Amino acid sequence: MLPMANTHLYKPNLVIVISGPSGSGKSSVINTLCEADETLQLSVSATTRNPRPGEVDGVNYHFLSKAEFEKHIQQGSFLEWAEYGDNLYGTLKSEIAAAREAGKDAILEIEVEGSLQIKEQDLTPAKTLLIFIIPPSFTTLEERLRRRQTESEKELKQRLDIAKSEVLQIQHYDYWVSNPEDGVQQAVNQIQAIIIAERSRIDDKLIETINPLLGVDCTD
Ligand code: 5GP
Repeated sequence: MLPMANTHLYKPNLVIVISGPSGSGKSSVINTLCEADETLQLSVSATTRNPRPGEVDGVNYHFLSKAEFEKHIQQGSFLEWAEYGDNLYGTLKSEIAAAREAGKDAILEIEVEGSLQIKEQDLTPAKTLLIFIIPPSFTTLEERLRRRQTESEKELKQRLDIAKSEVLQIQHYDYWVSNPEDGVQQAVNQIQAIIIAERSRIDDKLIETINPLLGVDCTD
């Protein structure tokens, strides 16, 4: 399990956004990460795309019709949403609230446009951390996408085109992590290290917590 830095002082408030091209292996990395760390809570996204074999509603995604998704947009239920390929994807605000209520850091697996929408928002007291997963090469990406056989040829080409444009947006992220072939654990370890560092930041919240503990009078 991931060691909680300064366990007695740390209060979960991170919104950890993980992006990376389709086929970069981010789902495997994030699933392994969440299994290893009970202080992380995965945000279940909403989407209009059809479930793939084995995907379960409410676990992998909240699978919605286009009308249901649009209703959520109108009601302002999304923290962010974006069109990817021919489908809509979005993060429900309620998913972030649920992580907070559970006393956990929220982890989101979303594409670049949605990540940038989150980056532009002030989520105080929550803090946003943006991580980008890089595949070894576009050839590997294409091989991985073909191997899983979940997309038509048209969708696959669309995903590869989006992948290229997504990598060009990496400068908006805080950290990058590489996910080499057979390297899931390596990527997980790297993300864990980033999270530990982030949890150990000295910020106003920590000072507020630590000063009374040390008997420092903050009223001056
Ligand atoms: P997939 O169809 O492969 O599950 O996901 C397609 C893309 O949509 C991936 O890049 C995935 O990270 C992204 N995605 C999944 N959930 C969300 C979400 O809630 N918001 C946004 N903006 N993208 C999402």
